[in-house]
Amino acid sequence: MSLLVVGSVAYDAVETPFGKCEQMLGGSAAHFSISASYFTDVRIVGVVGGDFRDEERSVLNSHKINIDDLELVPDGKTFRWFGRYDYDLNVAHTLDTHLNVFADFKPKLSDASKKSRLLFLGNIQPDLQREVREQMPGAELVALDTMNLWIENTKESLLKTIRGVDVVIINDAEARQLTEIPNLIKAARTILSWGPKALIVKRGEYGAALFTADSYFAIPAYPLESVFDPTGAGDTFAGGFMGYLSSQEKLDEAAMRRAMIFGSVMASFNVEEFGTDRVRRLTHDEINQRFRSFKQMTNFEEIPFERAVQAAK
Ligand code: AMP
Repeated sequence: MSLLVVGSVAYDAVETPFGKCEQMLGGSAAHFSISASYFTDVRIVGVVGGDFRDEERSVLNSHKINIDDLELVPDGKTFRWFGRYDYDLNVAHTLDTHLNVFADFKPKLSDASKKSRLLFLGNIQPDLQREVREQMPGAELVALDTMNLWIENTKESLLKTIRGVDVVIINDAEARQLTEIPNLIKAARTILSWGPKALIVKRGEYGAALFTADSYFAIPAYPLESVFDPTGAGDTFAGGFMGYLSSQEKLDEAAMRRAMIFGSVMASFNVEEFGTDRVRRLTHDEINQRFRSFKQMTNFEEIPFERAVQAAK
């Protein structure tokens, strides 16, 4: 049971229609690992600066997240993301990005990290994602996330990275932008033709879909009446998905379908409060309860349609 994530550990400044936060723990690896920690042992490969406070470090520690490979650059500054959401909370507007210590980051994996069973390449520059992927040839399953910035600026490198992974986890706008195909089903087929065995398309408040070469599975989002801050929902989904898979012996499609539900459950908690605030104090009971609600929400009986049968006689 072990899961490695490479990605950003950040200080985010976020504004939504409901509030504002100048500095909170964020980044793809932070959201991912806190979510995954409820299911499995997680290790982070990343970098932070001298301004990274003990307060944030202790959040990671309290979830038993291994940070031996979270490099510290004492005279550097932690990566910063400044974002804003308008009333359409599915769309994040990047106001500014300060790469800081990420500008010179070279991922270094300890032997223990290299032995991890599963690998998640969180949203960072695709060359860096590939560097980590190449150091983990024995990983049983490798998944990747990305964002519009890398699709726009480093597409060739991103395509190379995608060819070397098993599962791509992106949102609908990214799938369209990446393939330049507006129809999501066709876009999904195109991404699968590049090599990955599965594609997960996250659709914010509309749920998520899993595509493989010969199947399609879709789930709604948990029906929440108030969404406060969607920052990190995608990474939290991926953390629940990969964390659950990591706890399973068989990584087949049935496991992936259950993992999709756990991903959605974790993401639904994430959006209820700023940053990682809600997910960091979850209980297993709360997670299981929402898992059961999903089962209820999507369950229906198979009853033959008698009238049509009679009419045809
Ligand atoms: P999401 O799960 O898609 O909402 O991702 C949100 C997280 O992505 C935030 O916590 C940011 O710190 C992080 N992020 C935003 N831009 C970048 C970037 N260019 N590289 C790495 N991480 C980023």
